[in-house]
Amino acid sequence: MSLTLHVDASRWREHLRRFVDTGRVAVVPVAKGNGYGFGNETLAAEAGALGVETLAVGTYEELARLDDAFAGDLLVLTPWRPWMNARLGDERVIHTVSRPSDLHALVERGGRPRIVLEVLTSMRRHGVDPTQLEAIAEPLAETRFEGFALHLPLAGDHRDEARELAEMAFGAVASSPVRRIWVSHLSRQAASDVASAIDADVRVRVGSDLWLGDRSALSMRATVLDVHSLQRGERYGYRQRPARRAGHIVVVAGGTAHGVALEAPSAVTSIRQRAVSVAKGGLEATGRALSPFRIGGKQRWFAEPPHMQCSMLWLPRDVAPPEPGDEVELDVRFTTTTADRIVWE
Ligand SMILES: *Cc1c(COP(=O)(O)O)cnc(C)c1O
Repeated sequence: MSLTLHVDASRWREHLRRFVDTGRVAVVPVAKGNGYGFGNETLAAEAGALGVETLAVGTYEELARLDDAFAGDLLVLTPWRPWMNARLGDERVIHTVSRPSDLHALVERGGRPRIVLEVLTSMRRHGVDPTQLEAIAEPLAETRFEGFALHLPLAGDHRDEARELAEMAFGAVASSPVRRIWVSHLSRQAASDVASAIDADVRVRVGSDLWLGDRSALSMRATVLDVHSLQRGERYGYRQRPARRAGHIVVVAGGTAHGVALEAPSAVTSIRQRAVSVAKGGLEATGRALSPFRIGGKQRWFAEPPHMQCSMLWLPRDVAPPEPGDEVELDVRFTTTTADRIVWE
C-alpha cells in the first residue's frame, strides 16, 4: 500500500536501447540524486545491460554506493576538491578537475589519477576559465588525461560554443594526443555535428532525456488508504479546519517523505506566471493548494498540507470517491519524488 512507480519495462528499455544505439556519439548515462525516481542502483544495472563504457555519478558519496552495481568506468561529475574523500588510487574512477589549484594539489598527491578537465562555459557553474588553460598544460601531463568536460546550459543552441571552447582547450594542451570532450546538454545530433566539425571524440552525459525520455512508459500511482465522508462544518486534520461543504476526505499514500508537493523552485519570469505561482502555492492566502493527485480525471485539492507518508485530499460531494485499495495517478517530478516501490510490468 504505497506510492508506486509503474514501469512498462519493455517500452522503457526499448527507448534506452534506441537512445544509446542511434547516432555516432557515445552516451554516458548519469545516475545521481534520487536516481531520477528509479534509484541509482537500478540505473547502474541498466547502464551495465546497455553495455556503455562509462557511467557518470554526481558525487563521491554516490560513487561509494555504486561500486558493485556497475563494472565499467565511473565518472564523478562534482569537481574534485582537496578536502574530498576521493578514491584517487581507483583505476575505474575518472575525476573531474575544475580549478588550476586543484590540479596542482592532485598532482602533488601522485599516482597519476584519471581526470577530465572541466572548462568554464556560459553556464558559469564550474570550470577553468578558457583564457587560463595554458597554465594547466604542464601539470596535466602528470595525470592520465581523459579529455575536457563542458557543461552547457539547457536554453539555446550551444554547438558553436562547444566547438570554440574545445578548439581553445585542445590548442592549449597541444602536446596531448587526447581529442575527447565530455558534454552535457547537447542533443546527440548536435554533439555529432561538433564531433565532425572538430574531428574529436564527443561523449554526451545524459540523465533526464535518457531515463525519463519516454514518459509514456512511466506512471506514478498512489494507493488510496482511507476515505471519510464529512458534513459541512465538521473538522478534520492537524489544523482542525471545518469543512466548508459536504464531501470526502481521501487519504492517499505519498507525502513529504516521498517528495510529494516539494517542487524544485521554477524559474518564474513573467508577472502572469508569478500570479499563477502564487495562486498554486497560495496555502497562506486561501488555505488550499492544488495536489498532484488525480481523481476522476482532475487534479484535486489538498485538504491540508501533505503529511510525512500520506496526503489528505478534498473531494467534493458530487464526485464518487475511490475505494481504499484503489490506485490514483499523480503527476510528479521524477527528480524530486521517490516511490516506495517500483513495479515492472
Ligand atoms: C546532472 C548533470 C548532467 C545530466 O543532466 P540531465 O539534465 O539530467 O541530463 C550532466 N552533466 C552534469 C555536469 C550534471 O551535473
